[in-house]
Amino acid sequence: MEARFYQKKDDRKVQCQLCPDNCILSEGQRGACRVRKNINGILIAENYGLASAAHTDPIEKKPLYHFYPGKPILSLGTAGCNLHCVFCQNWEISQSTVDELTLYTLSPDDAVKKALQINGNIGIAYTYNEPVIWYEYVYDTAMLAHERGLKNVMVSNGYVHREPLEKIMPLIDAFSIDLKAFSETFYKKYTKSKLHPVLEALKIIRAYNKHLEITNLVIPGLNDREDEFRKMIGWIAEELGTESILHISRYFPAWKLHNPPTPTETLKRFYRLAKEKLSYVYLGNVATLETGQDTVCPQCGSTLIKRSGYYTEITGLDEKGNCKQCGKHVMDYV
Ligand code: SF4
Repeated sequence: MEARFYQKKDDRKVQCQLCPDNCILSEGQRGACRVRKNINGILIAENYGLASAAHTDPIEKKPLYHFYPGKPILSLGTAGCNLHCVFCQNWEISQSTVDELTLYTLSPDDAVKKALQINGNIGIAYTYNEPVIWYEYVYDTAMLAHERGLKNVMVSNGYVHREPLEKIMPLIDAFSIDLKAFSETFYKKYTKSKLHPVLEALKIIRAYNKHLEITNLVIPGLNDREDEFRKMIGWIAEELGTESILHISRYFPAWKLHNPPTPTETLKRFYRLAKEKLSYVYLGNVATLETGQDTVCPQCGSTLIKRSGYYTEITGLDEKGNCKQCGKHVMDYV
């Protein structure tokens, strides 16, 4: 499949304009994402219609806590990523080319048919690896999914140019975006990308009024400075609003990074800091902690949704997403 968003250059070179890496590729070369390749002067999306995984997950696993809580969603992934995080939890698929993995063919039509067969399924999540670099397939599948009444969810690093993001926006109902740190140095050193475009993408998603939840993975020694965390919370509150939803997630050693897991004390401290400015803060990857699991009404303090692992029980919300106790509107999708 020919890729979208690229320019032809002299000497049969091409420049990809999908993400801020802006790779210039000679014939036969692949981009930094490993799945977009210059073949005879044409940029090809090699992973179109090739899936590495298709599982039914609880929506909480994305993580999305304010988007159809407790419902299942068909979750699809492929190969490749435009980031190279040393702590990647899914590095086997994200840092591979299509030749290095066993992938299976899943056309957009087949993906939608599969989604429709799952009992109670709300739609399709593009997840596990970075969906931006699966752009053409996500676009085509999301369009068919919408036609059949399904929802589309992107779980993304947010490292994408404005034009492709705005073009796909009408097809995506909810975004789960990783904000990996609030430091350009961190992004450059540990992910081989930049922070600024991610912040821009978050602002664009907010401006389009799409459902948005943010995840911040706290890694000891790398992004756990309190002053930096406070700055990030301040930016979220100011630019995206105090009702933004933030998941503070526990890190475990993965791929090239062997630092010890995040101490639960750090997570609880950051939870309290975030709650000073944001209404909805959760702790992830810590099923044993009671802090930061339930959804609580920020107005009257009633428990609205109880959670234990991926088990979800809606207790204090009505069918319109309002607190039964005080009437505050908490979420649009129940
Ligand atoms: S999507 Fe891939 S090929 Fe395109 S600019 Fe980004 S890393 Fe490079």
